[in-house]
Amino acid sequence: MAAGGSTQQRRREMAAASAAAISGAGRCRLSKIGATRRPPPARVRVAVRLRPFVDGTAGASDPPCVRGMDSCSLEIANWRNHQETLKYQFDAFYGERSTQQDIYAGSVQPILRHLLEGQNASVLAYGPTGAGKTHTMLGSPEQPGVIPRALMDLLQLTREEGAEGRPWALSVTMSYLEIYQEKVLDLLDPASGDLVIREDCRGTILIPGLTQKPITSFADFERHFLPASRNRTVGATRLNQRSSRSHAVLLVKVDQRERLAPFRQREGKLYLIDLAGSEDNRRTGNKGLRLKESGAINTSLFVLGKVVDALNQGLPRVPYRDSKLTRLLQDSLGGSAHSILIANIAPERRFYLDTVSALNFAARSKEVINRPFTNESLQPYVLGPVKLSQKELLGPPEAKRARGPEEEEIGSPEPMAAPASASQKLSPLQKLSSMDPAMLERLLSLDRLLASQGSQGAPLLSTPKRERMVLMKTVEEKDLEIERLKTKQKELEAKMLAQKAEEKENHCPTMLRPLSHRTVTGAKPLKKAVVMPLQLIQEQAASPNAEIHILKNKGR
Ligand code: ADP
Ligand code: MG
Repeated sequence: MAAGGSTQQRRREMAAASAAAISGAGRCRLSKIGATRRPPPARVRVAVRLRPFVDGTAGASDPPCVRGMDSCSLEIANWRNHQETLKYQFDAFYGERSTQQDIYAGSVQPILRHLLEGQNASVLAYGPTGAGKTHTMLGSPEQPGVIPRALMDLLQLTREEGAEGRPWALSVTMSYLEIYQEKVLDLLDPASGDLVIREDCRGTILIPGLTQKPITSFADFERHFLPASRNRTVGATRLNQRSSRSHAVLLVKVDQRERLAPFRQREGKLYLIDLAGSEDNRRTGNKGLRLKESGAINTSLFVLGKVVDALNQGLPRVPYRDSKLTRLLQDSLGGSAHSILIANIAPERRFYLDTVSALNFAARSKEVINRPFTNESLQPYVLGPVKLSQKELLGPPEAKRARGPEEEEIGSPEPMAAPASASQKLSPLQKLSSMDPAMLERLLSLDRLLASQGSQGAPLLSTPKRERMVLMKTVEEKDLEIERLKTKQKELEAKMLAQKAEEKENHCPTMLRPLSHRTVTGAKPLKKAVVMPLQLIQEQAASPNAEIHILKNKGR
């Protein structure tokens, strides 16, 4: 339990750094912090919440086996030695009387601001079944938990920060999934089946096909979240308390787009996770489906423990890929997120062994070091300034045509509707010349593409936005294909050159040589006798022995 020495600390930091490097996140993205400076470390925060005895729980009359000491530490009876207690210290300890607001304000709310900085955050509820994970995360209408509180605040925050006139436009989306028996199920679209978890070139973990619902208000959130949660609850009664056997993951993405140049874009992801029960299923005597479920749960939770240990020991390989849960949490543990683990424990004696194991896991988790950084890049399609310059190029009548009615409706990414700032009121030529050459090239190829598709007039401007985006995508794909072909061509050229060089060394064996140098292996060289000077032939003809000699030589 004691804090490790400085060497161990360094190793842990290195492991966290190498994990971040393996994830590749730091390589591809532009970071606010910059490539020269390493992002500062942020240890995984760990809070423990002890729930009160709940009505009807057997043994409620017993004294609790665990007791809080102060706002950060607690003690639990030592099963090896009854005279002693085991003491633990965490970032926060919340006792039986703590409220939902205490936990939220004390441990969760402080990390939400990072989302608006384009950084990731995760909240994980860990602990045995019945210890209060769902109560902490979801709560009830009377006592709302972390999820509704965080969403309420986040939506409020994004409304304020993204208001008209502020530098950034903000949008929020939500996805809700469940990992059940190592299958990833979309709770917003249960018919979609098992989804795959992938990693993009930037090292970002993503789930293609996962439903993403845009939300602008808490009512929006409830409209999507409540039916999805009910689906899960129906599953719980029908499928033997499935809800406690699956990991529920709510993913909230905050997307920010800068309204003015340089038109940066930031994305912050918040994972709110109600983990499956961490109880030891060998003790609970599970059979049949339960045992199968337990196996799967244990795989995920067992790997979670291994991931934490690998990070703590600075091992070169962190087994994120060994389970769906850890793959998804790659960023939350040893990655780039601000993470908080809330270990839920129960006071009843029958929970004792599971409580000890949950506390041990929590103690190991608090040693894990993350390195959060800002996920910042330039917006892929910065059309705002180009649109203005094109308008100016075309003059007033065309400029009027340029803005299609659809553009207003869709609620476009803000930069497209960005007001012309003082710096933007430049001559069209200046604007084009000051543009990123890659972007300029892309726009020109888009123009060419539009022209080749038979569009007339000022195609780039008169095309409805949705169509334009599709075309942009096509151009981008074509660019990629061209890039691929170029690489292939280069490879072939290199191969050819290598072959030529080799041939030169071997005196061009495959090419036809000048006749004088050729060695004909199939036929014997012609006899000189055939080209003998005339007088010699005559001499030979005069001597019959000579003729016989030639015939013998020919083997006839
Ligand atoms: P888990 O999700 O870990 O299996 P639950 O959240 O379902 O556990 O909690 C089990 C029971 O205990 C529920 O009836 C819940 O309402 C109750 N409970 C949990 N934590 C608290 C708490 N802090 N205060 C009051 N009741 C609680
Ligand atoms: Mg639960």
